[in-house]
Amino acid sequence: MLVVGAGPAGAELGRCLAQAGVDVCVIERLPDLRRAAFSSAAMPLAAMQEFGLPAQVVGARWNGWKLLGPSGQWRAWQQDHSLGVVLDFAALRCWLSEQMQAWGGRLHLGWTAIGTEPSVDGGVITHCRDAHGLSHSIRSDWLIDASGQQRALIGDGASGPDPLVSGVGLEWLLKVDQQQWSRWQGALSFVLGSQWVPQGYGWVFPMQPGVLKLGVCRLLDPGRTQPGLQSLQQQLMDQLDLADAEVLDRHGGLMRSRVCRRDSHGHGRLLALGDAVSTGNLLGGEGIRHAMTSARVLGSLLQQPRADLIDRYRQALRDQLGWRWNLTGRLARRTWLGLHSPKADQRLDHWLQILEKCSANDLSALLFDYRFERFGLRALPYVLGLGR
Ligand SMILES: Cc1cc2nc3c(=O)[nH]c(=O)nc-3n(C[C@H](O)[C@H](O)[C@H](O)COP(=O)(O)OP(=O)(O)OC[C@H]3O[C@@H](n4cnc5c(N)ncnc54)[C@H](O)[C@@H]3O)c2cc1C
Repeated sequence: MLVVGAGPAGAELGRCLAQAGVDVCVIERLPDLRRAAFSSAAMPLAAMQEFGLPAQVVGARWNGWKLLGPSGQWRAWQQDHSLGVVLDFAALRCWLSEQMQAWGGRLHLGWTAIGTEPSVDGGVITHCRDAHGLSHSIRSDWLIDASGQQRALIGDGASGPDPLVSGVGLEWLLKVDQQQWSRWQGALSFVLGSQWVPQGYGWVFPMQPGVLKLGVCRLLDPGRTQPGLQSLQQQLMDQLDLADAEVLDRHGGLMRSRVCRRDSHGHGRLLALGDAVSTGNLLGGEGIRHAMTSARVLGSLLQQPRADLIDRYRQALRDQLGWRWNLTGRLARRTWLGLHSPKADQRLDHWLQILEKCSANDLSALLFDYRFERFGLRALPYVLGLGR
């Protein structure tokens, strides 16, 4: 089995297959998994437990939420127990890959997959280039595209009724003093409103004592001129009184997902998983645990009889992500693409007022489990796009 990409999806699949005794090789174009750690990597506690992730991949824990709304009002929700973690994304990738190798899987860093062709014996040949520019061809029975939103082998597919929706994010790692740290630690903080980030949002997450993640992201709207993310980021830093912080690292990336997930999940001996089949959720810009879920689903199917594998995989993954998934995509598109006017700001403020009455747990259930029904009829018009 050859897996292309050692992100959460590919490395988790490698780990599952190697643990089951399958001969697996993962190639990753990054020469070092500590580089380009683009993800903010917030995750609910349940997912940590579900995937058995150790303390060494955790940057910080959080037990509450803070939201700055369009009207300039901060709202806070707190629980007395931990609700989630901010992962060290680089440490996560390293740990998953090390686990895979400990179970006998192989990892080639600095290798880029550039194309495939069927092999005469019914398998597949993948053409790659290593870190020195040397070409290699690897034959495998199955090939898995876990290259994330780049979809390096499976491709983007035709743009039909369910087009790819793109979001772009920029994040800076900030070194802050004790006073600033205590202001932001223990909570996921979001900045919502068109005057802060039109068609998107900003965030401040605790990373580790004295280090914060400050980010901005938005959905791409070809029909509108959008201000540069870097200037929005700088503005946010000033507005949140973080202008004096030292910038330790700058990173960012794209998320591209289809709202209804009508992606090709594979053809022939090629299968795809993670962001390559739209498991990145655009509502909260969140995809690590969903990418790992897709790896678990596919990993288990690959160990069973493989008749109708692609259809069974698509269905099993859809079942796993649940019926609420499409709603979240619609809500994301509506909320973020529409957030560029005072009217949209008012609507968002109204929604935040509704949320004031809930607990931090409820908010987690909404943003991580997509349990809109907890908010009953008050939330339904908004979710369905009928709200004021
Ligand atoms: C700015 C930003 C913030 C985010 N914040 C969060 C968050 O807070 N919480 C959360 O859960 N999710 C977050 N996400 C989303 C999350 O990071 C992704 O959904 C997740 O990483 C997807 O995992 P993956 O393994 O499918 O893809 P990736 O993590 O993208 O992994 C794909 C891997 O494939 C490699 N690759 C690509 N092409 C090739 C090739 N041709 N050959 C070899 N290797 C290749 C890449 O180098 C990469 O390592 C964020 C994303 C962005 C952009």
